[in-house]
Amino acid sequence: METVPSPITSTTNSGGGGGGSTTPSRYENQKRRDWNTFSQYLRNHRPPLTVAMCSGAHVLEFLHYLDQFGKTKVHNPTCPFFGLPNPPAPCPCPLRQAWGSLDALIGRLRAAYEENGGRAESNPFGARAVRLYLHDVREFQAKARGVSYEKKRKRPKSSNISNATPVTTSPNATATATAT
Ligand SMILES: [Zn+2]
Repeated sequence: METVPSPITSTTNSGGGGGGSTTPSRYENQKRRDWNTFSQYLRNHRPPLTVAMCSGAHVLEFLHYLDQFGKTKVHNPTCPFFGLPNPPAPCPCPLRQAWGSLDALIGRLRAAYEENGGRAESNPFGARAVRLYLHDVREFQAKARGVSYEKKRKRPKSSNISNATPVTTSPNATATATAT
């Protein structure tokens, strides 16, 4: 069952000319920021990487790197609160990027990659390893947090979108988040 969203048709913007008059959507803004973050990550990588050199493995590295900026508590299997949606007390389990955030992020980067000249056939964000990783993250976070992503999909009750908070990529800008 394919669950990876592909919100991108990539048939627009092929001219490379105008399009400056329309206000960029929130999605486009976020996509540009994500792409900048990824590009910066590649520049800081040891050894340095270029986009063309990227494979699915590098994308996974990037996702792991982002976890340090995550804000979603994901309980370890040994934690007594494992599987509890609303733990009654704090615990030392790590904060991670929520699956919904990563899933949306990969969708945007996948589009950005091709908009920046990458070939769809070699798109590392569409790599099988990345899909499998996201699938695993979803499964594990659903268990660890006691959250069923399937239910949320069918009927978003009470507009709870806590699983899709924007990915926070800058350790310095956490206090000045623009998203409200
Ligand atoms: Zn815990």
